[in-house]
Amino acid sequence: MKWRSHLSIGNAIADRFQMSEGERRSFLDGLVEPDRHGERANRPGHSYRVRHHRASDRVIMIHVWMARKSFLRNDTYQGYRHLGMALHYIQDKSTSKGLMGLTHERREKKLAGLTVPQKAIEVGLKKYVSSPEFVRGTIVRTKPKKDLEEIMVQASFRSAAVAAAVLDASQPPLFSKQMSLARRRHALMHTPLAVGSMAVGLSLALAWNSPFPIIVPLPLVLLALILDRPYRQLKRLAEWNGLRRH
Ligand SMILES: [Zn+2]
Repeated sequence: MKWRSHLSIGNAIADRFQMSEGERRSFLDGLVEPDRHGERANRPGHSYRVRHHRASDRVIMIHVWMARKSFLRNDTYQGYRHLGMALHYIQDKSTSKGLMGLTHERREKKLAGLTVPQKAIEVGLKKYVSSPEFVRGTIVRTKPKKDLEEIMVQASFRSAAVAAAVLDASQPPLFSKQMSLARRRHALMHTPLAVGSMAVGLSLALAWNSPFPIIVPLPLVLLALILDRPYRQLKRLAEWNGLRRH
């Protein structure tokens, strides 16, 4: 995707959030940064950009977390910059690789000429949940499209939803209460279950002088881990909201 497309989606989102000049600048900087670094090739007379490798969902999530944590620390510059970078990759992920060369170039030029679908931005800003699970799902569901209008709609919609999720500073109601309850349950049940069954296995192994008993409690440990999944999700949500252990 061309800079012009990244920037026009970015500006549409910045308008909705009424970003200040400085905030908008760092946001837009982040939006074009992935295409900027060391990726220019020079030919006599002009230089051109070299397409960067597609970022994996994991890399996009890293930028999302960096953005979120920067905002929690009140480092808005890094917050907007990393948010911009995450959105850049999501927008690139919306475009199909297509054919390299002339047709591709022509399509990208055509794409850059399209206006941002405001409706898609609006829907994205409404349909979001401020949680890492939601953002992750949004990234995974971003599929490469061939149709130019579809690319623009998906890129705008997903970008707006992720921006809204990251920028939402309101804490879900009753969240800290829910969290401390889950922590207590976790401490009461899951940890002793996992540690205890391992300990049993280990002591049997020592007594029998054979490694076999260590394997016996493995299903139990696995079960404890599976039962623990909601707790781990909640823990990530606590981190997302800047809540620490007390
Ligand atoms: Zn790119």
